[in-house]
This record gives sequence, structure tokens and C-alpha cells, in this order.
Amino acid sequence: MKSDTGRLLITGGAGFIGSNFIRYMLKVHPEYRIINLDKLTYAGNLDNLKDIEGNPNYKFMKGDVCDSSLISNLVKKADVVVNFAAESHVDRSIESPDEFIKTNVLGTNNLLKCSLDAKVKRFVQISTDECYGSIENGSFKETDSLTPNSPYSASKAAGDLIALSYWKTYGFPVVITRSTNNFGSYQYPEKLIPLFITNILEGKKVPLYGDGLNVRDWLYVEDNCEAIDLVLHEGKEGEIYNIGAKNELPNVEVTKMVLDILGKDENFIEYVTDRPGHDKRYSVDISKIKELGWSPRHDFDEALKLTVNWYKDNKWWWEKLK
Ligand code: NAD
Repeated sequence: MKSDTGRLLITGGAGFIGSNFIRYMLKVHPEYRIINLDKLTYAGNLDNLKDIEGNPNYKFMKGDVCDSSLISNLVKKADVVVNFAAESHVDRSIESPDEFIKTNVLGTNNLLKCSLDAKVKRFVQISTDECYGSIENGSFKETDSLTPNSPYSASKAAGDLIALSYWKTYGFPVVITRSTNNFGSYQYPEKLIPLFITNILEGKKVPLYGDGLNVRDWLYVEDNCEAIDLVLHEGKEGEIYNIGAKNELPNVEVTKMVLDILGKDENFIEYVTDRPGHDKRYSVDISKIKELGWSPRHDFDEALKLTVNWYKDNKWWWEKLK
């Protein structure tokens, strides 16, 4: 379907993964025209896209995915919608869930409804492995039921189910990606890896939740961008694709690796009271996306070093955010 996908509406493209995805798409498909619609919440940052703001095939618009008249106009100019827009931080969802429900549920429905009316050719819903909830052993498959535990993951699961209902009810061509924890450049320094790197660079300790044994599968953001590009073009309508890297590590191990790269010891770790309802382990089965022809290219150690070096070299980007 490549010839039909030249006009992309990307929502939430001023955030971490969305901005990496826009940069990736303009490099790999230089003929594509991209509109980036973003509300510029605390997590949206036009500095993430400074290097491409002059690209004639790229346009930024400030706006909310919940705004029906704005969205119905924008989707008329799009072949494909890729929805990254979300409230994305679990701790914030525990403090105040309302914005999560508005953007992740109502905003997703608004985008779907307007895209259906405009006969958009493909709608890619960017979701998360957190929808499945925690798993002690083994890995979740796309067919497993959803048992999300935080307001964040519940709102993302709701968005996914609404998206799937548009496929089942209207035959609207939705595809969903559920990726594991991403890391890389331009990630807001509230998430574990960038928070810990930047704290250490500032000479501060790193706050590790509970016993530090919660397990996450770490995916380098560029690998995720490749996978999303593949699902956009080759994914089957109405299907869900898990995306992960099989880098399952307890948080304390990741923390020690970051400390090691920066030449610091474990005295920099400060164990803090655990997050309420903290999921113990996330794990997804990635055989379906592998069958589509994707595998992560980056080795975790190398990608972590690249990431640490990026934050070392780009203090201008994160110092003002902290
Ligand atoms: P992020 O918080 O860095 O970026 C979210 C972006 O959405 C921001 O630019 C923000 O301004 C924008 N936004 C928020 N509300 C909006 C609204 N109402 N209208 C328009 N724009 C709005 O998030 P991220 O880490 O880049 O995550 C992107 C997507 O990927 C999210 O849907 C998230 O659930 C999903 N995801 C993230 C991870 C991860 O590890 N970061 C893992 C799996 C899935």
C-alpha cells in the first residue's frame, strides 16, 4: 500500500517516540508529507524536532486530539493517521487520572471517528505492553486478554478496544502496535533511563522504586520506529502487533549499567517507596512482528551507551526541562 501512504497525520509527534518517528520517516521516505499535530503538554517539545523544522515536507500544528472540528479538517488531508498522542507517565496517572481518560480514550475516539468519516486509508494506534498487565512467567500474545493495572494502562487499553471496535463494526482499517518500554534520545527526563542518566550527570542520586526487581523489556526507540513503519505498510488490518526486544532486565540491573557507563558506583542508588500497584514484570511474545519481517537491530548495551552519550552531549535539551 506504499503509493497510498504519502500523506501522514502524526499526533503527539512533539513527544519522545513521535519525534523520533517523524525524523525516521523523513529519512527513509523523503517524499512523504507529514503533519505533526501536538497539544504541546509538558511532554511535548519542539526542540525535539529542531533539526527538521525547515524540511518542506514537514509541518507542525498545535492542537488537541479531542478537538473535533480541527481534527475533521486535518484528517481530510491525510492518507494515514499515526496516533502517538497520549498522557504517558504512570506516576502522573496515579496522581490525576482525568487527563489520561480525556486524551487516551476520548481523544483516540475522536481521531477514529473523524478518520472514519474522512475515509482515511489506515489508522495506526500506538499502544503499550502495559495493557496486558503483569505476568510472572512466559509472555503475552496479542490474543491474550487485557488486565491493565494503572489509570495509564487502563486508558490505553480502552483506546485499543475502541480502535478494534471501529475495525469490527465499520471495517475501518486500524492496526495497533503494543511496544515495550522505549529508551533513546529526546525522552522526557521523568522516565527511568533519562531521569537516572541526567540525575547522575547533575551529581544527584537516582530514586529506585521498591526492591528494584521489577522487570521491563527495553526497546531502543529507533528499532520501534522501524517496526511501526513496517506495521504501517505491511500490517494486516484489524490486527495487533507486539513489539519488544527481549532485553528483559530488573530495574536495578539497568540502573547499575547506567552507573557503570558513567563511572559511578551503587552508592548513587536511593531506594524509595514503591509505586502503588507497580507491575512486577512485563513480557510480550514478538513472533507475530518477526513473521512480518522485523527484528530489533540494536544490542541493549550498545544502545544504552549511545543513549547515555546523547544526554551527555545534549545538556541544552534536558537541563531546562529539569
Ligand atoms: P510522550 O509523553 O513523550 O509524548 C506524548 C505527546 O503527546 C506529547 O508531545 C504531548 O504534547 C502530546 N499530547 C498529549 N496530549 C495530547 C492531546 N490531547 N492532543 C495532542 N497531543 C497531545 O510519550 P511517548 O513516550 O513518546 O509515547 C508515545 C506513545 O507511545 C504513547 O501513546 C504511549 O502510550 C506509547 N508508548 C510509549 C512507550 C514508552 O516507553 N515511552 C512504550 C509503549 C507505548
